[in-house]
Amino acid sequence: MAKLYFNYATMNAGKTTMLLQASYNYRERGMTTMLFVAGHYHKGDTGLISSRIGLEAEAEMFRDGDDLYARVAEHHEHTTVHCIFVDEAQFLEEEQVWQLARIADRLNIPVMCYGLRTDFQGKLFSGSRALLAIADDLREVRTICRCGRKATMVVRLGPDGKVAKQGEQVAIGKDVYVSLCRQHWEEEMGRAAPDDFIGFARN
Ligand SMILES: [Zn+2]
Repeated sequence: MAKLYFNYATMNAGKTTMLLQASYNYRERGMTTMLFVAGHYHKGDTGLISSRIGLEAEAEMFRDGDDLYARVAEHHEHTTVHCIFVDEAQFLEEEQVWQLARIADRLNIPVMCYGLRTDFQGKLFSGSRALLAIADDLREVRTICRCGRKATMVVRLGPDGKVAKQGEQVAIGKDVYVSLCRQHWEEEMGRAAPDDFIGFARN
């Protein structure tokens, strides 16, 4: 049976590089993959998956209200699809996560989702909440905090270099994200007194 996978991490953990490598491994063996990315990420009319180390691939965009099951089923009818990859999966709607589960269950195509678990305020994204609830296989993509511990949280730095405490959940392109462990995240967010002298909180 095919499974629905959720590979989750903080920012800058190399999720997108992993996705592109995994898709390449399928295609190298003559198999067909379908790539999806959230509609915020595009070049013209085409979705674009790009990793920090310079790998890129065109992808189909998903937007709120799209029926991903229908799109995959239609494609699968004339070209056998061997694996589905979804980047920025945190932006999926709950219903779209169920559609992806149906792709695994009814079309027997594995679905690999990559995305963030929480936003800069430590809150789950809609897609991540649904994936954590119903995915068959959860895999954490690890990255580390400046202190060397596992980073599980992310802060957003505004154009002034200061840590954003409030604001929209989604801000693409203009801001910088830094992955931190929970302790340093709380310190940077001003929720706990700093116990070291590195970081942004004292800017
Ligand atoms: Zn830390």
